[in-house]
Amino acid sequence: MNILVINAGSSSLKYQLLDPVKGALLAKGLCERIGIDGKFTYKAEGKKTIDAADVAMPTHSEAIQAVLDALADKENGVIASMAEIGAVGHRVVHGGEAFNKSVLITDEVLKAIEDCIPLAPLHNPANLTGIRACQKVMPGVPMVAVFDTAFHQTMPAKAYMYALPYEYYEQDKVRRYGFHGTSHKYVAGRAAAMLGKPVEEVKLISCHLGNGSSITAVDGGKSVDTSMGFTPLAGVPMGTRSGDLDAGILQYLMNKYGMGIDEMLNVLNKKSGVEGLSCVSSDFRDLEAAAGKGDAKAALAQEKFAYEVKKYVGAYAAAMGGTDAIVFTAGVGENDKAIRAMVCAGLEYMGVKLDAAANDVRGKETVISAADSKVKVLLIPTNEELMIATETAEIVNK
Ligand code: ADP
Repeated sequence: MNILVINAGSSSLKYQLLDPVKGALLAKGLCERIGIDGKFTYKAEGKKTIDAADVAMPTHSEAIQAVLDALADKENGVIASMAEIGAVGHRVVHGGEAFNKSVLITDEVLKAIEDCIPLAPLHNPANLTGIRACQKVMPGVPMVAVFDTAFHQTMPAKAYMYALPYEYYEQDKVRRYGFHGTSHKYVAGRAAAMLGKPVEEVKLISCHLGNGSSITAVDGGKSVDTSMGFTPLAGVPMGTRSGDLDAGILQYLMNKYGMGIDEMLNVLNKKSGVEGLSCVSSDFRDLEAAAGKGDAKAALAQEKFAYEVKKYVGAYAAAMGGTDAIVFTAGVGENDKAIRAMVCAGLEYMGVKLDAAANDVRGKETVISAADSKVKVLLIPTNEELMIATETAEIVNK
């Protein structure tokens, strides 16, 4: 069964058509500037690529229609008609406490996703727009919602509660939710396969290091703690996000510079992280280049990032009573051998021994620890779309 995977933003929409059973990617692309001047991109192996072509997309509905037209195009398409799409899997950012797994989309599910809008005011409305557009253009095709937060709903209360007055949890739903759940779940499954054990029998520390980064402790296939929190601002420093910091800093800076809370949060979300610290870039390739030329702040940003990731590795080993493997994934985790080496350095006491030659690799599923390393270190390219397609097919087939 072919599954169309949709990741809808407010003015953009990423799509992939996959056959999850074969693990095959048939086509993928992007609709951009929806509601503005509409740009359409389409790529399929052996077919003519469409690169940011002008296509009128006043709303997400025209964008979805453009995707379907391209997929079923006589010359460049990959399917004969829409009938060859068995279901649509939608990435939804926030499922709050309502969703601990992927679900078939019904009117009640749409209402529950709407109820989560206050928790993800930028993302959930865009995800809902994408779902409604698909329902309009593809009536009768089953749709599934796959949530970024769902995998983390297994965390125990001691991990997800903040030490705040209890009423903020009860009345206002303030708690740790965690994100990147689809990625952490996917790599946990792959890691168990690489270790040759059922996922229920392994302890893992999954490091999703990209533009946004989060670390998750996965015990027996279940998330038991994760570094992102109520929002994706928490945890380790990221490309432009600060990660955790002393809340007292907000009061101090806001008073000193007469900033409002929105301006302050804009600094924390968009001007901080390795970009803020390095004064160079949010991109780890630029940091590496600058540090190589002797830029001390760029080197500090790399060091700070790796140090904070390492501290989470130690913390989650403590939380789980050890770990069988450390997994690196996402843009930085898959490509930056220097960061991986910095994270693992000094962890020999807990049985982590990286193999420098094996670590000299990019974007490939492989073991990068030494043969006698008690804790395995794994590089696993993430594939959130395949995970979404797999779960969508499972739910629709039930
Ligand atoms: P997102 O969180 O937006 O999905 P990705 O997981 O794609 O991000 O990660 C993007 C980041 O990966 C880039 O900003 C860059 O810092 C990093 N990256 C990509 N390629 C490399 C590379 N070859 N070396 C180091 N870092 C890389």
